[in-house]
Amino acid sequence: KTENIVLFWFRSDLRLNDNPALHFACKKSKVLPIYILDNKNIKKFQIGGASKWWLHNSLVELNKSLNNSLSIYLGDPIKVIHEIINKYKIKDVFWNRCYDPDSIKRDKEIKSKLNDSDINVFTYNGSLLWEPWNILKSDNTPYKVFTPFYRKGCLGSSEPRFPIEFDEKSIFFEEKSNKLSINDLNLLDNFDWYLKFNQYWVPGEKSAKNMLDNFISEGLSDYKEGRNFPSKKNVSRLSPYIKFGEISVNQIWYSILNNSKSNKDKNTEHFLSELGWREFSYYLLYHFPQIVDTNLQEKFNKFPWVNNINVYTNWKKGQTGYPIVDAGMRELWETGYMHNRVRMIVGSFLVKNLLIDWRKGEEWFWDCLLDADLASNSSSWQWVAGSGADAAPYFRIFNPILQGKKFDPEGEYTKRFVP
Ligand code: FAD
Repeated sequence: KTENIVLFWFRSDLRLNDNPALHFACKKSKVLPIYILDNKNIKKFQIGGASKWWLHNSLVELNKSLNNSLSIYLGDPIKVIHEIINKYKIKDVFWNRCYDPDSIKRDKEIKSKLNDSDINVFTYNGSLLWEPWNILKSDNTPYKVFTPFYRKGCLGSSEPRFPIEFDEKSIFFEEKSNKLSINDLNLLDNFDWYLKFNQYWVPGEKSAKNMLDNFISEGLSDYKEGRNFPSKKNVSRLSPYIKFGEISVNQIWYSILNNSKSNKDKNTEHFLSELGWREFSYYLLYHFPQIVDTNLQEKFNKFPWVNNINVYTNWKKGQTGYPIVDAGMRELWETGYMHNRVRMIVGSFLVKNLLIDWRKGEEWFWDCLLDADLASNSSSWQWVAGSGADAAPYFRIFNPILQGKKFDPEGEYTKRFVP
């Protein structure tokens, strides 16, 4: 083959619009788009059960929008990319950066091997508003407290990058470079427990855009207050789309800002600051990668967890006897999602009432959440436990009864899942 094609590797950016690496790949030449399910380098936190369903469906949608030109691989990206490069005599490789420790290690290795063989590697930021290494305190150490990180560090630095529209004239390599299909990745079990998700979710880039538009027209105007009440429709439910990159946080940031150009009110500010919490989670993961399974505050290493297995099982099944806790755990099982207020309640209950190690909670969420995200999940669990950077103090315990009374006074949410 003498044709000049470039390689684009889809990872946590399963979209065409505002995909910087894809944009520049398409500008350069005809693009061979690939997805690799990495079964080699991602060690402890391989994709969880619910997320597999989401990924399968996202890949199907992505392949459709690429007119069936997405090539699928399973294996070690280091080897896979090497083979493709040789087969098609590729000189340029493009991807958007990942920020978890296993991916960083892998990507560094691939990049250095490719560079050694005179292949150009172009990497971009496609998933964060601010690069974690650019935001530091005046003494050049990382922030550990959210408010100064966000207000001074992020908002005080450059504006987030403007979204880039996909160029419809982009040309993709027509033939598949591999015979594997999306089904061959075996992301869906034979036992079809996941069919229930179809009634709640439509994965994919188009659906992400619809969700955002709906949220802006119906949820945003009372977000600050309403986001605390799980029965209200004031949250965006965008998290799984963000996690798989079907919409970028830059697209969301600017859609929200454009919507409220004339009045940047408390709801807009608050919503943007929640995207800020996501940035903070990624920031912590980048600067303190041990956060995924190690207490950031070492004094917690000696905490005498009780870890009663029966009690843990009851929590997982939503059979603790505490209505809002059980509702949350059943919402998670039924829909692959849980409202943020309730995540905090069930988390506090597990760690502070049942005295079960936060890592057990993290593990269950990892398997059950459609939005399971290493950065947000580990930093939120450490926040709940009190062992994290800017965490809820260990002595602040959510009273599971009062929380229910306050945030679900009529039991509207609770009764949906615990009739
Ligand atoms: P919205 O209120 O509409 O917020 C919009 C977006 O802002 C979210 O999609 C998310 O990207 C970001 N965001 C909002 N709140 C937070 C937060 N506290 N921390 C980080 N980002 C936030 N979020 C995940 O995406 N993946 C996880 O695995 C995850 N695990 C969690 C575990 C625990 C114990 C707790 C307490 C929180 C966890 N969160 C996690 C954070 C938060 O609960 C979800 O991001 C949020 O509920 C998603 O719903 P939404 O899109 O409707 O949120």
